[in-house]
Amino acid sequence: MAGIYVYSDKPALAAELVSLAKQAGQPVNVLALDKDIAEALAGYGPDKVILIQGDSNIIENYAKPLAAFLKDEGAELFLVGATARGRDLAARIAGYLGCGMVSDVSSVAIGDGKVSCERLIYGGAVTQAEDIEGMAVVTVPAGRGEAVKGGAAEVITKQLIADKKAELVETACIVREGVDLAAADKIVCIGLGMDKKEDIQMAAELADALGAEVGCTRSICEERKWLPNYIGISGETVKPSLYVAMGVSGQVQHVVGMRDAKVVVAVNTNEKAPIFAAADYGIVGDMYELIPLLTKEIKNAKGA
Ligand SMILES: Cc1cc2nc3c(=O)[nH]c(=O)nc-3n(C[C@H](O)[C@H](O)[C@H](O)COP(=O)(O)OP(=O)(O)OC[C@H]3O[C@@H](n4cnc5c(N)ncnc54)[C@H](O)[C@@H]3O)c2cc1C
Repeated sequence: MAGIYVYSDKPALAAELVSLAKQAGQPVNVLALDKDIAEALAGYGPDKVILIQGDSNIIENYAKPLAAFLKDEGAELFLVGATARGRDLAARIAGYLGCGMVSDVSSVAIGDGKVSCERLIYGGAVTQAEDIEGMAVVTVPAGRGEAVKGGAAEVITKQLIADKKAELVETACIVREGVDLAAADKIVCIGLGMDKKEDIQMAAELADALGAEVGCTRSICEERKWLPNYIGISGETVKPSLYVAMGVSGQVQHVVGMRDAKVVVAVNTNEKAPIFAAADYGIVGDMYELIPLLTKEIKNAKGA
């Protein structure tokens, strides 16, 4: 059985990867370590779900037998969610198979006996294209595909013997500060065009009227320390339906993190600001005038 195999320790990302893989027109099989997750993934359109069973619940411990399994199956591509654990697994599997691997791609296509990937390099300034001939392992970050519900794939069980090199010592919750920008449907993003920390309140009122979260650039987060997390190549990747940039210049490192937003609105005093090239609607103007105006208009339109 040839085709594409998919795994992520984050089920939502695994579902996205299934959609992405299906675009190649090949059979798509998704791997899972947990029965409930396997059953949930069956409803996202894969041809098959393979439930791995063995004496470990750590995916990395199955890297060697999984590599042998993928080889036996004649897999052409193993797509792995680019999480910390996914990257670990992908590297081990590519190592055991002695095949090519590309990390954190922005796009992936399969055809003519090769896997073609694109990924950003030099801080997002350049897109690099890479082709791998034969079997390939590719890691894909969240947000590259859209999970689509549908179908009821068969769940088959595969017994594998874990090598137990990794051991789970403790599981502890990470206390996240700030809002979950990656999951936000609408974002009002502030940049260094904002003069004072107190002015975030003004952006928060616009966000409130829109039903949005407030995000920021790295400069606001790391230099000024006004907000705990930021958007961009070294921060969060976001994919909201609406992204409103206020006083954001739109440097490439920032734009890489928000360019998949459906609608981008930018307000900037500098008509040459690069953010306008990434925007669907641009207003050359002062956000200190425009934010209160927009907030008022939106509230009026909603009848609040
Ligand atoms: C390796 C590397 C990684 C990086 N990663 C990231 C990243 O992940 N995310 C990120 O955001 N940055 C990142 N950066 C930083 C990035 O290059 C920019 O410096 C940063 O995004 C700029 O932030 P800014 O838009 O808030 O500020 P600025 O570039 O200073 O822009 C402020 C803008 O506000 C406008 N403005 C001023 N006053 C007003 C007003 N009253 N009304 C409207 N507009 C106004 C100005 O015209 C200007 O365009 C990275 C840099 C490096 C080197």
